[in-house]
Parts: sequence; C-alpha cells; structure tokens
Amino acid sequence: MSDAPRPTVVVDGKALADEIRKELAEAVGRLVAGGARPPKLAVVLVGDDPASASYIKGKRRACARVGMESVEVDLPASASQQEVLDAVAALNRDPGVDGILVQLPLPKGIDPNAVAAAIDPDKDVDGLHVVNQGRLLAGEPGLYPCTPLGILAILDRYGVALEGARAVVIGRSLIVGKPVALLLLERNATVTMCHSRTRDLRGIVREADVVVAAVGRARLVQRDWVKPGAAVIDVGVNAVDGELVGDVDFAGVQGVAGLVTPPRGGVGPMTITMLLRNTLEAYRARTGAGA
Ligand code: NAD
Repeated sequence: MSDAPRPTVVVDGKALADEIRKELAEAVGRLVAGGARPPKLAVVLVGDDPASASYIKGKRRACARVGMESVEVDLPASASQQEVLDAVAALNRDPGVDGILVQLPLPKGIDPNAVAAAIDPDKDVDGLHVVNQGRLLAGEPGLYPCTPLGILAILDRYGVALEGARAVVIGRSLIVGKPVALLLLERNATVTMCHSRTRDLRGIVREADVVVAAVGRARLVQRDWVKPGAAVIDVGVNAVDGELVGDVDFAGVQGVAGLVTPPRGGVGPMTITMLLRNTLEAYRARTGAGA
C-alpha cells in the first residue's frame, strides 16, 4: 500500500453520544410513563479538586438530561478512608440508588482499590470492582469501564471491522488499556498490548488495523506510525500550552489514517454516555424493569 493521501474520517463523538443519549432518554421516559421510578446515580466526591468537581457536575447534568436522578455525596479532603468506605456502604444499602461512582483521583492516603472493592459490584457503574473485571475477563455480562465501552461503540458505529483485525492498544491501565484490549479480543480482534517498556512501539503500531492510544503523552503516535487506512482511537488528554492535545498527532495522521478521533469531541463524550448506559443497565438488572 502506498502512503498517498486519502481522506480520513474524523469521528464525531458528540453526535454519536447525542444519538445514544436520546435513546437512553426514551428508555427512561418509557419506564417513568409505566409508573417506575427513574434510575439514580450516586457520585462521591472526596476533597475539592476543581477538575473533579467539574467532571462530577458534567456527569450529573448528563443524568438530568436523560431523565435520570443523581445524588452527590461530598466528603472533605481530610476524610479518612473509613469515612469514604462508610459513605459507599450507605449507598450500597440504599435501594433507591442504582449506580455508584467515586470520582478519581482520591486524596493521598485513601486507597482507590479498597474503595473500588467496597462498591456493590451490581452498582459499580465505573466497572472497576474486581468482580466486574473478572466478568469481563470471563466474557460474562457485567458492568464494564465506560471509556472502553465508548471506544467499542465508536468502532461499531463507524463500521470498523474487528473480526480478525490487528488491534494495538498502547497503555495498560485498569480503566482503559486492559479492558479495551479484552473487549477487542472478545470481538475476535488479534490484540497486542503495548506499554512503557515495549520495544519498537512504532513498528508494532505500524502493523495495526486498529490503534487505541491511552497513554497520556502528547502526540506520541506520529504520522509515520500509522498503517494507511487504520482506525486510530485517541484516548489521551494532555494540556500543551493551554491547548488540549491527544496522544495522537491529529493533524499529522490526516490523509493516512482511515479514521481518527479528535482530541475534543471524540472519545470524551462517549465515556459519560456509557456511564449513563451502565446506570440504566444496573437499574434494569437490579429492579428487573424493562428487561
Ligand atoms: P495511566 O495514566 O494510568 O497509564 C498510562 C499508560 O501508558 C501506562 O500503562 C504506561 O505503561 C503507558 N505508557 C506510558 N508511557 C508510555 C510510552 N512512552 N509508550 C508506551 N506506553 C506508555 O493511563 P489511563 O488512566 O488510561 O490514561 C491515559 C490517558 O487517557 C490520559 O491522558 C488520561 O487523561 C486519558 N483518559 C481519557 C479518558 C476519556 O474519557 N477521554 C478516560 C480515561 C483516561
């Protein structure tokens, strides 16, 4: 294949997210019209990190827009790990709460794994409980992490063939890299996972039909890393001179990649959308409504 310029499809993650949110709003509307209560998400914020507060605001607003309820539990930065665990336990017991998420990062001294482990797996809408990680590994139904679900929804919506495709995932986090690799494997892609110790990253990425970059290094994936026609999903969020830049050189891969997600309006809006979908799924599984 030649490196001759070809049009690159730029994913409109916002439009796709809006489409799915409309379907979710309709589903919630049907439940409520049938006399059921709406699904409810509980968000726990520990401390006063402005970025975390703004993420939570966005998630709660997204809930309201699809007719779901949300409740916020605020704890001071000085809260002990036990206080956080107690707050989670109270939400676990509350029959009116369907989904629970604890906003990360947590203040120093609070173990995020201990907090994830305390959440009822059937309310774990971030999909970070080991039970849900195990369900994903076993290919069983469960609540899976939102960003990987959003990535799969993008690939499906844009008709990217996964069966037998060579997929390369860069980054091995529990929240993106590992689960997205498992979801791609479940769809019969041939998956290679790369990370900070990978040798010849460029050479490996160059063979991929599908690339997922979840690293946190601005413009790591360059034009000459990309196989012509490859689908390139950029999860990275990096601030460079006040500008939001992905892990992929977005301008550079134009004309080579078959498809690419932009740094803004790509994967991001899909992540919150999958949080809403997980909350509705948790509600359905717990209440048996609309199943
Ligand atoms: P992380 O920050 O926990 O870990 C980074 C991963 O990248 C590690 O597995 C590491 O091995 C790998 N890595 C580091 N340097 C590398 C290199 N030079 N070459 C290859 N691999 C390297 O990962 P994360 O939490 O998945 O976050 C990754 C990025 O995705 C961040 O920019 C984060 O802000 C962003 N993110 C975006 C969303 C979204 O919804 N858009 C969601 C989650 C994370």
